[in-house]
Amino acid sequence: MKVARFYAPGDIRLEDAPEPSPGPGELKIRVRNCSTCGTDVKISRFGHHHIVPPRVMGHEIAGEVAEAGAGVAGWAAGDRVQVIAAVPDGTCAECRRGRRTVCTAQESMGYHYDGGFAEYMIVPAKVLAVDGVNRIPGGVSFAEASVAEPLACVLNGQELARVGEGDDVVVFGSGPVGCLHVRVARARGAARVFLVEVNAERLHRAAALVKPDAAIDAGVADPVAEVLARTGGRGADVAITAAASGAAQEQAQRLMAPGGRVSLFGGLPKDDPLISVDANRVHYRELSLVGANGSSPAHNARALELIGSGQVQVDDLITHRLPLDALHDALDLVTRGEAIKVTIEP
Ligand SMILES: [Zn+2]
Repeated sequence: MKVARFYAPGDIRLEDAPEPSPGPGELKIRVRNCSTCGTDVKISRFGHHHIVPPRVMGHEIAGEVAEAGAGVAGWAAGDRVQVIAAVPDGTCAECRRGRRTVCTAQESMGYHYDGGFAEYMIVPAKVLAVDGVNRIPGGVSFAEASVAEPLACVLNGQELARVGEGDDVVVFGSGPVGCLHVRVARARGAARVFLVEVNAERLHRAAALVKPDAAIDAGVADPVAEVLARTGGRGADVAITAAASGAAQEQAQRLMAPGGRVSLFGGLPKDDPLISVDANRVHYRELSLVGANGSSPAHNARALELIGSGQVQVDDLITHRLPLDALHDALDLVTRGEAIKVTIEP
């Protein structure tokens, strides 16, 4: 079978490999879609401290069960499934408290285990043990199901930021994750959603699809002034930074209404993680700054339900479908920001 393996930064090889066979407690999956994201680009350029090469990348996975290993109950060849990316151990102090997204022993598909840029892959027993394999609802395509993983991360972020009925929400960043944030905020009852982006071309492409109440070009306008003007000076209830931008994280704090929640959804570069916080603004306005680290298995299941019920549309965000052979082209498309979602069909 064909696989795409990471060997070193700048060195991802398309190779032939023997088909894996499932051990006890494992599933073998025929991968139908594995979508790409900015993290794949980061790994391809810089590697990752959790990846010991060679490693098959790819963590937005949907496919069909090809074979169930000994002792696996409930799954049979042909079942259509989506697989989680972040794998909690289910037993650490955080997992026992129900906080599986911040598991201190978290592992990841495509990092600790071979991922989905392959014709076949193995779902480890640890994934099955935490209910990390979800049945794809009827009417949901494999490509749509592969977007359940980033959608699950977006859900986690909006739960932590308590996005709800009547909220005015600002989303910084109009990549695929920013687009998903706009749609999830609407599904959760937000009153108005404003989309902020520094790249005019990306902004207009995203805005044409997800139709925010305002598309604010931060390359030419001050997003703080724009949001205050559009909310009668009150500010936003929630701001979400879906961009690796400390500037956006600081702007977000300055456009919050009293009681507002800032979601630092996108992380910052490891060597540049510090931002300024006006502590008095946080104090007197009772603001909350919240993080978000991936998603739990339960978030993945809920994400599939949201897609299946039509509450969150994702098919139109998938702008490019490429075969595994074209993985390098796919990563280039993601790097250049010319696509919204690029999916690989091995
Ligand atoms: Zn844990």
